[in-house]
Amino acid sequence: MTTNTPIPRDPRRLLSRMRQLMAVQENAQERLDHLTDLIAEEAGWDVSSIYLERRSGALELCATHGLKESSVHKVRLKPDEGLVGLVARQARPLAVSDAQAHPAFALKPETGEETFKTFVGVPILRGGRLVGVLTAQSSDDRDILEEEIETLQTVAMVLAEIVASGDVIEPEELSDLGVRQSKPERFQGGAYSGGVAMGVAVLFEPHVGSEHLIAEDVDAEEKRLETAIEAMRASVDDMLESGRVPFGGPTRDVLQAYRMFANDQGWLERLREAVKLGLTADAAVERVRNENRARLMKAPDPIFRERLHDLEDLANRLLRHLEGETALVTDLPDNAILIARNIGPAELLDFDRDKIRGIALEEGSASSHATIVAKAMGIPLVGRLEGALDSLEEGDSVILDGEFGLLHIRPADDVVETYEERILALSKRQQAYAELKGPTVSRDGHRISLQLNAGLLIEMTQLDETGADAVGLFRTEFQFMVADNLPRLDEQAQVYKSVLDAAGDKPVIFRTLDLGGDKVAPFAPSTIEPNPALGWRAIRMGLDRPGLLRYQLRALIQASAGQTLSVMFPMISTPWEMRAAREMFERELETAERRGKAMPSKVRIGLMLETPGMAWAVEHVLDAVDFVAVGANDLMQYFYAADRQNSRVSDRYDVLSPPALSLFKQIRDACAKHDVPVSVCGEIAAKPLEAAVLVGLGYERLSMSGNNIGPIKKLISGLEVNTLGTWLAARLDSPADSLRPLLLEAGRDAGLPIEAVDNRQRV
Ligand code: PEP
Ligand code: MG
Repeated sequence: MTTNTPIPRDPRRLLSRMRQLMAVQENAQERLDHLTDLIAEEAGWDVSSIYLERRSGALELCATHGLKESSVHKVRLKPDEGLVGLVARQARPLAVSDAQAHPAFALKPETGEETFKTFVGVPILRGGRLVGVLTAQSSDDRDILEEEIETLQTVAMVLAEIVASGDVIEPEELSDLGVRQSKPERFQGGAYSGGVAMGVAVLFEPHVGSEHLIAEDVDAEEKRLETAIEAMRASVDDMLESGRVPFGGPTRDVLQAYRMFANDQGWLERLREAVKLGLTADAAVERVRNENRARLMKAPDPIFRERLHDLEDLANRLLRHLEGETALVTDLPDNAILIARNIGPAELLDFDRDKIRGIALEEGSASSHATIVAKAMGIPLVGRLEGALDSLEEGDSVILDGEFGLLHIRPADDVVETYEERILALSKRQQAYAELKGPTVSRDGHRISLQLNAGLLIEMTQLDETGADAVGLFRTEFQFMVADNLPRLDEQAQVYKSVLDAAGDKPVIFRTLDLGGDKVAPFAPSTIEPNPALGWRAIRMGLDRPGLLRYQLRALIQASAGQTLSVMFPMISTPWEMRAAREMFERELETAERRGKAMPSKVRIGLMLETPGMAWAVEHVLDAVDFVAVGANDLMQYFYAADRQNSRVSDRYDVLSPPALSLFKQIRDACAKHDVPVSVCGEIAAKPLEAAVLVGLGYERLSMSGNNIGPIKKLISGLEVNTLGTWLAARLDSPADSLRPLLLEAGRDAGLPIEAVDNRQRV
């Protein structure tokens, strides 16, 4: 038997003709027919056929040049049938010069293929999933060049986009593994920002549209790719070397591995090859990403799947470099649920708030910056939804439940109905809360001040919407975390002035920069620390390198000319730190006055109490402060030695334990004794039962995010504070791990409307 050597053809010509074809207006079937003709003609094959996968898993012949016309849409192969089935199963190209001798060969006489010997099949992949198989056959048995397979793979990529348009086969007819999955799925993750949203999935992962797949100028595309690779490498190096990576240990190792992949010659060569064939640089990245995904997703070893994550991340990074940073946020539907592996706070702020209904992340954590920004924007966010991206397609309908940490993908009708009812109930309740505008007074007459935690200008509208009495905590570091360069004094002052203007005559407490730990500003001094939560952060940084803090104090003074300026310092752990911070502030005030600047009409200086040590020493510093704010998030993290960022330990202990409550009581009593106002501004103040207990312990000021103010106001209005206080006082010495069960049980007797504590409904 003779084996013929094929004549190499120019794949770019095929692609160039394909580009012309794509520009012609025609329906998807006509397009597939023309494509099979083109492949056969330009690549020198007797047969070219397209098989697409149906929901049943069968591979249906949908277009052909060279096989019998009558078999189109009639011939269906079982998932493991024949050479086509083998290509589908392995999601890898297959080339055989004597097809009929291959053990997997299965003859379909109705196609008339018995006369063809050489067979090449390549998978049609989209988003790493199999959509179908593209085959080429010839009647002679001949060698198959590597380039020929490459060319078919490139064509297959364009095909995947055409099929995804949904015109060839009804979307619901396609396989579950195909372009559009249809089974409902439900993922359980972490509930990080509350609320419920229904909408359509928008994948925060660059995707190259079919109109940009084929290069017009191959040389120019090669240059674009090289420039983007360089920029990507530089950004990865920068991430590692600038010391900006906020975590030490394993994260750094992972990033080192990540850098290694960024320089992986195999990966880069495959990208370059794809561009040489005539794809745009973007399409080349997408094609290689799809192939890696299809290959590595089948790998049983989790290490390979990890590698896939890194490669995908790099591919996305590279695509963003190719597209330019601004290409992230175009054409959002009005009810977008953003789905991503992770997202940064700055990226989130780039999106149009009116269109984003929710955010679902495969990673993320309760106190990540994205979470903080999402909360600030009032957008539900669910994190740790491992594997969700693999189950989703752009445009899938989804429900995001930020109360219970659930993501429903393609939900069934009954789930949709239940959520519609819940959303209605939630909005009714929200409306009822909005109407509770007046002062918050308990059933037995205690006036409680409910205040707002904010960090972004956009949150200030909540002051009126919720009827909050003040801004009890304005976190100034957000402006710094999302900026590339240190905001200039005027820029800082402008933000503070806008905050004060937005607050009108309601007081605002500015907290000075709380950087360090997990809060990283790209330009701030930072070091890799073994234990960032116990490290050089907040006021420690402010006192050791005073430049930044002084600058901020000047901006605050400038912004509050003629108004009251309330400033508090975070993470004060000893009295001398408070005194040093106060001195620094007073020096700045003196300097401003000496220079004839317009001065604040009144200045109030506060201590943020966030460490147990300071709780014991608080009485020794009250002469130096005008008010105290208990930062309960940090206070409890240090009290229990449980990292608030680490979900393994962060919920391990209950703040309603007698020792923790005794600590809160002691702080409040010390402040009351010296007549210094004290508030609580951590998450604890925003939870109904916890907030009630704080009020029972004697706290009269609670500061929380806006969406919690209504429910807490309602709860307190029904509360008998004196009865609860007596009940608690008798139990602060209790040996119980937590008073929670007892509190819930005794709720009615203590005057607590317990039904308001947790009346949500899980779906
Ligand atoms: C706290 O620690 O309770 C607090 C309010 O500050 P942050 O959450 O910003 O650390
Ligand atoms: Mg804190």
